[in-house]
Amino acid sequence: MVPPAASPAPQPTGLERLLAEVINPGLCVACGACLGLCPHLIFLDGQVAAPDACGLTSGRCYGFCPVAQRDVSRESQGPIGPVLGAWQGRATSKDLQGRVQYGGVVSELLALALDQSMVREAVVTAAGLRGTPQGIRVTERTGVLGAAGSVYAGGGALSSLNQALSEDSNHPLAVVGLPCQVQAVQAMKAHPQQPQAARRIHLVIGLFCTMNLPWRGLRKLLARHGVQAPLSRADFPPPPAGIFQAWSNGSYHELPLDQVRALSYPGCAGCPDLTSDGADLSVGACEGKPGWNTILARTHAGAGLLELAAGKGLLELEPAQPASMEHLTQAASDKRKRATAWSEERRHG
Ligand SMILES: Cc1cc2nc3c(=O)[nH]c(=O)nc-3n(C[C@H](O)[C@H](O)[C@H](O)COP(=O)(O)OP(=O)(O)OC[C@H]3O[C@@H](n4cnc5c(N)ncnc54)[C@H](O)[C@@H]3O)c2cc1C
Ligand code: SF4
Ligand code: SF4
Repeated sequence: MVPPAASPAPQPTGLERLLAEVINPGLCVACGACLGLCPHLIFLDGQVAAPDACGLTSGRCYGFCPVAQRDVSRESQGPIGPVLGAWQGRATSKDLQGRVQYGGVVSELLALALDQSMVREAVVTAAGLRGTPQGIRVTERTGVLGAAGSVYAGGGALSSLNQALSEDSNHPLAVVGLPCQVQAVQAMKAHPQQPQAARRIHLVIGLFCTMNLPWRGLRKLLARHGVQAPLSRADFPPPPAGIFQAWSNGSYHELPLDQVRALSYPGCAGCPDLTSDGADLSVGACEGKPGWNTILARTHAGAGLLELAAGKGLLELEPAQPASMEHLTQAASDKRKRATAWSEERRHG
């Protein structure tokens, strides 16, 4: 009699595999989802490092990692994911002016969610004293405003979310993050060893994103161009500008886009999500309307918060222009195609 074939040993899903598939090949995008869970992973000058092994064959670090868990096809979702309503808008409050990236919709919605006790704490990303991005936890409007504006570098902010979730507390939380971070938050909410995530994370505001930069590389490039960190503001103006704009110590600088783009995380090349599909609300620039945002409400919680903000006069809102939604959908589809091609090439090459 032929003995039954032994079932293959289950693949490990712990730190060793995270190192082999993501960190050692240089594909980590510094989202921070694996940080703050154990002492074996640390964040050093904008990069994740594992100074020693933990020996476990399964771990939340691997389960949360958006690079390890990537699904580049996402065919069921459409290029920009589920949308209940698409808007363009900007915040009206004077205290946001000069601090926010574009229309300040993210900061205003977050501040309102805290003010209404929809959440009691939020995890955001802010530049530290020397410009290094980091996750911080804020509980009121002043904190939200302190973190307004975009830092075009990875700050591992989800380590702060892990910290908040590890505490003996039950208050509801919000997170602002890039698409990879939003994906990691969804993985946290679905993970059997992290039940507090589904219970406590009540609001996820996602940003649009085409790439991000390692802070160490950006700092060196800025220095080569005579720009000292920290930056008070930075931006990628829309094509055909071909530049990265940086403001520092009251002076303005332009860096060639190709030099900045060359620095981007290699792991961003395989990222299929432009618009944070899994968020309650997704926010990005508004094509042809400087100082405004495009806003996608994806869940009833997100749509309700947006409606409340508009009702209180905190946001000026208009339906998104069909042409700009078409361009956004095309850009999202192109990003997904590039990610699929990159992943195929890695698999076969
Ligand atoms: C790395 C990066 C790439 C982006 N790429 C695009 C793009 O290709 N197209 C596009 O339309 N928009 C992009 N955005 C989003 C855009 O820059 C604005 O954040 C968005 O339009 C919201 O504008 P706002 O005025 O409402 O933001 P604000 O009200 O100023 O709020 C900005 C929020 O962004 C958070 N934040 C800042 N830096 C980071 C970071 N590094 N990681 C995570 N969160 C951060 C802050 O915590 C703050 O809550 C990108 C943002 C980042 C950080
Ligand atoms: S991408 Fe995020 S979860 Fe994955 S290794 Fe890097 S920091 Fe950790
Ligand atoms: S391109 Fe994707 S992986 Fe890279 S920072 Fe943006 S969302 Fe994250």
